[in-house]
Amino acid sequence: MTSRIDNIVETDGALILGAGIAGLFTALKLAPMPSIVLAGTRPGLSGSSAWAQGGIAASVGEGDTWQSHAHDTMVAGAGLCDAQIVDLVAQEAPARIEDLVGFGAPFDRNGDGSLAVGREAAHSMPRIVHVKGDGAGAAISATLAARANEADCITLLEGFHAVELALENGRVTGIFARSGIGTNARLILFRARAVILATGGLGALYAVTTNPLESRGEGLGMAARAGALISDPEFVQFHPTAIAVGRDPAPLATEALRGEGAVLLNDRGERFMAAIHNDAELAPRDIVARAIHRQITSGAKVYLDCREAIGADFPRHFPTVYAACMSAGIDPVSAMIPV
Ligand SMILES: Cc1cc2nc3c(=O)[nH]c(=O)nc-3n(C[C@H](O)[C@H](O)[C@H](O)COP(=O)(O)OP(=O)(O)OC[C@H]3O[C@@H](n4cnc5c(N)ncnc54)[C@H](O)[C@@H]3O)c2cc1C
Repeated sequence: MTSRIDNIVETDGALILGAGIAGLFTALKLAPMPSIVLAGTRPGLSGSSAWAQGGIAASVGEGDTWQSHAHDTMVAGAGLCDAQIVDLVAQEAPARIEDLVGFGAPFDRNGDGSLAVGREAAHSMPRIVHVKGDGAGAAISATLAARANEADCITLLEGFHAVELALENGRVTGIFARSGIGTNARLILFRARAVILATGGLGALYAVTTNPLESRGEGLGMAARAGALISDPEFVQFHPTAIAVGRDPAPLATEALRGEGAVLLNDRGERFMAAIHNDAELAPRDIVARAIHRQITSGAKVYLDCREAIGADFPRHFPTVYAACMSAGIDPVSAMIPV
């Protein structure tokens, strides 16, 4: 970095870049170790996290096991998953959900107080904990941001655009970040004992995306330029049911709708997924996304039909998707959603 540095901020704790769920959760888990969480946008509303809808997979439902969760993940991964990582994630997921409950995440509950779990693709049983139907990301992000705000050892800083990692003697020691514009533009060097990148994905680099614009892989780029080996960047998830109303980014129709029985139809009225996979609409996402893409490139239109499976319950059970549809002039109670 050769530009003039306007200010240097130092901490003997951790510097976390990114205020999505990963960054905030890390800061809370590191407490009482001091940390600075640095982000472009406001913690609680930041990154893909605040946009997530359906919820989080964990084997917390009655009769479920982490082994079953791991098995389903390996099958959906079509031989490409790292079995050790899959086991680790499936095994630890229930405890991490407990952590989120402990921080105050308001997951939906059954009448007996147990966590309510929904069904999503490639899971052999209901396994998705959710908040107000389709508002998991916003609620969990807001909860973690509130806890981080209350913690004396955590400093939340927004409005900083990180541009490069700082290296000293081959070690990452900080982050260069810009703030302000025009005559107020500043370049600040944040130095810390440990630097953690929690900068999310890179989906917004694609022409059609459901990701926020800040998901541009900038953290990956900085890490690569600092000499890190980047593994598997080609694995980008394209959610099958982005709502096709000409918006960029496209609003999402959560997979939980298909979990509730919504079906995919083309404009000839064919339920094309039935011929492609035994699980039809609940096949793994890459298979459903490719099938929809094939329909569209062959000139067909594709719709998600929620009328029979969800119908009048739509506004109450899926308020986020309902609002997105209504703002585009589509009432999903009575009309199919173009995807
Ligand atoms: C519409 C949508 C729905 C989804 N639904 C689900 C779901 O139901 N269940 C599920 O498990 N997953 C879902 N996902 C995926 C999930 O949201 C993400 O995997 C997860 O939120 C990633 O969290 P994160 O904290 O790693 O990254 P993010 O939440 O993306 O946070 C990245 C942070 O890094 C910051 N940042 C990035 N670059 C810079 C920079 N250069 N300078 C400063 N700050 C920077 C951003 O501002 C942000 O604060 C969904 C994603 C989308 C887009």
